[in-house]
Amino acid sequence: MDKRKKLAEVDRRLARAFGTPTRRPGGDPLDLLIGTILSQNTSDLNRDRAYAELRKRFPRWEDVLAAPVEEIAQAIRGAGLHQQRAARIKAILKRLAEERGELSLDFLSHLPKEEAERWLLSLPGVGRKTAYIVLLFGFGWPFFPVDTHIARVTRRLGLVGEREEPHRALAPLVPRGREIELHLNLIRLGREICQARRPRCQACPLPDLCSYALSKLDPALVANPEVCYLEPLRKSSPKEAK
Ligand code: SF4
Repeated sequence: MDKRKKLAEVDRRLARAFGTPTRRPGGDPLDLLIGTILSQNTSDLNRDRAYAELRKRFPRWEDVLAAPVEEIAQAIRGAGLHQQRAARIKAILKRLAEERGELSLDFLSHLPKEEAERWLLSLPGVGRKTAYIVLLFGFGWPFFPVDTHIARVTRRLGLVGEREEPHRALAPLVPRGREIELHLNLIRLGREICQARRPRCQACPLPDLCSYALSKLDPALVANPEVCYLEPLRKSSPKEAK
């Protein structure tokens, strides 16, 4: 199947299985950027705690900018790599203050999308995933962030080759306007069903679309996913996507 059609079908089936995600990142783009930097390589819980402590000790970003790196690091130590993250956060705030005269990312909304992307990618510690989260959830632009779950699931589905960079491979395939829902539903699939060590293909709505499942499972079962896979999934109580 053509990869674009396959991803559209994946989107359709996940939307049917999981519904529309109600919890999604959002809010001020600078808050989102700092929160996403804190979320790199740590759990949502650790990120939330570190972010809450940072905002408690330094209610305004101006307060963070004025603080020594060591104090910022103390506030976010729950997220791990706190010295490195503190230095990066302070460097980003310093650059904003020097270049823009205010601690805000709102100016990005006036730039062409590609220029906004380049600006974010030029910041220390900001890769494609972090930049695209800000551009998608902070500005509503059609970027598609790929985290570890999405990378794993889309490789298994055969949408991303082993040597391909997932952001580049998936960007032309994602149905326009479906970026947020598809991103959140793929993460939910990765967390709840297509786990790294033992994917639960028998609870997955996608086996007949999936290169991994087609190579491992009984072809007779894979051929009839509506009966064999969707029913158990529908009966389980869906958790809200994070
Ligand atoms: S069929 Fe299995 S390997 Fe493929 S996406 Fe579903 S859970 Fe993952």
